[in-house]
Amino acid sequence: MQGRSLRQPHSCCYRRYRSRMGSLVNWAGNVQFRAATVDRPASVPELQRLVARSTRIRALGTAHSFSLVADTDGDLVSLARLPPAVDVDTSAAAVRVSAGLRYSDIAPRMHARGLALANLASLPHISVAGAVATGTHGSGDTNQSLAAAVTAMELVTAGGDLVQISRDADPARFPGLVVALGACGIVTSLTLDALPAYAVRQWVYEDVPFAEVAAGFDEIASAAYSVSMFTDWRHDQMTQVWLKRAEPAEVPPARWRGGRLASDDVHPISGMPADNCTPQLGRPGPWYERLPHFRAEFTPSAGEELQSEFLLGREHAVDALAALGRVAPTLARAVQVSEIRTVAADNLWLSPAYGRDSVAFHFTWVPDANAVAPALAAAQAALAPFEPRPHWGKLSTIAAGDVAGRYPRMDDFRRLVAEFDGPGQFRNDYADAYARPSG
Ligand SMILES: Cc1cc2nc3c(=O)[nH]c(=O)nc-3n(C[C@H](O)[C@H](O)[C@H](O)COP(=O)(O)OP(=O)(O)OC[C@H]3O[C@@H](n4cnc5c(N)ncnc54)[C@H](O)[C@@H]3O)c2cc1C
Repeated sequence: MQGRSLRQPHSCCYRRYRSRMGSLVNWAGNVQFRAATVDRPASVPELQRLVARSTRIRALGTAHSFSLVADTDGDLVSLARLPPAVDVDTSAAAVRVSAGLRYSDIAPRMHARGLALANLASLPHISVAGAVATGTHGSGDTNQSLAAAVTAMELVTAGGDLVQISRDADPARFPGLVVALGACGIVTSLTLDALPAYAVRQWVYEDVPFAEVAAGFDEIASAAYSVSMFTDWRHDQMTQVWLKRAEPAEVPPARWRGGRLASDDVHPISGMPADNCTPQLGRPGPWYERLPHFRAEFTPSAGEELQSEFLLGREHAVDALAALGRVAPTLARAVQVSEIRTVAADNLWLSPAYGRDSVAFHFTWVPDANAVAPALAAAQAALAPFEPRPHWGKLSTIAAGDVAGRYPRMDDFRRLVAEFDGPGQFRNDYADAYARPSG
């Protein structure tokens, strides 16, 4: 199944999910969706009617996933035309947003009302519902996945029923419904926990040797509110370590852990222009213009990449880095850049950071499935002793049964799927492989 998602049906890449050739593809162009069209209801009742008359239907966010998680042989539906509500409740420190909105749509409006999210992913262009459904994360020792901010959701379930569910009112089932791969229904709105708005400054260190990372992983990972380490596996070093410090931020020394402070803005892929990257060199800015690596007003690269990512227990960080270092030449042949981040544990059953403080090893590959296959296999073999959980939205060829076995609440999730989607309207091959109730 995953082999198909590695294959690229087109030689060039697309930023939208309808290609110029008329077929529906994801952002990277490596997934050709089987649905002929994407329905775009303008209201929740219209969505309910669509679901009621469909035998197989699935939500599509901004189509940034590299895996087949969003694919269906039925209908795809986008919520991008639903009224773009961003209801900020300053007294409750919460925001209720339409599910089809992107983080770049909601963040400035929250900030204008004095609120912020705890964290963001590297790219702000992804939809809130799509990011939440796959357990998308940013970085930071104390930062959980983006889904952990969700306190309530409205969703259209099988038959077109509209259901409200919240963390407080339904603590037994809620943790299973947030990161749900689209398998329990179509989320129409989410309520997110917020913090008082804050400013962030980011600095970048270049050329931090792996030996320093091994000796001081905890010090490096905790050196800022959000830390990202990048390597291309070519030189036994982190080519860059990005520190994102919340104000008041201490200015870091010129040299640290064998690396030197960058004197210019940089792109995570060394040598690429930094124009589409968020400002560095300690220039202060609002949280939503510093926590992502890429600016909202630019599209980073052009979808000319494939991605994989694996989350494992944080205690394995140094051993896992060493294991990957042993296959570095194989990785280097297919990787554009790797990113290593920490993610705090959450209690969401299908979150890759469920129940364990995690370290995430990410790979931005070249857009060539044949070149990626041996490198991905090598990465997976190196990480296998640490029982990694693959990112649901990225490429992995680890057997679905092995992955399912790494989620202690998977059987409970299967029961939830049966409860919320008895007729199987939201099924797809991808979710079925992991989570379809047996029998
Ligand atoms: C350049 C780039 C950078 C990235 N950076 C990060 C990163 O920093 N951290 C990280 O963890 N991941 C990252 N990702 C991965 C990305 O966050 C996930 O793939 C995420 O799911 C993308 O959101 P989307 O809106 O595109 O979802 P889609 O790919 O459109 O859909 C993903 C899943 O969500 C479901 N879904 C979408 N909308 C709804 C809804 N309304 N109701 C129910 N289910 C729904 C779909 O059915 C599908 O199962 C990155 C991806 C790219 C391309």
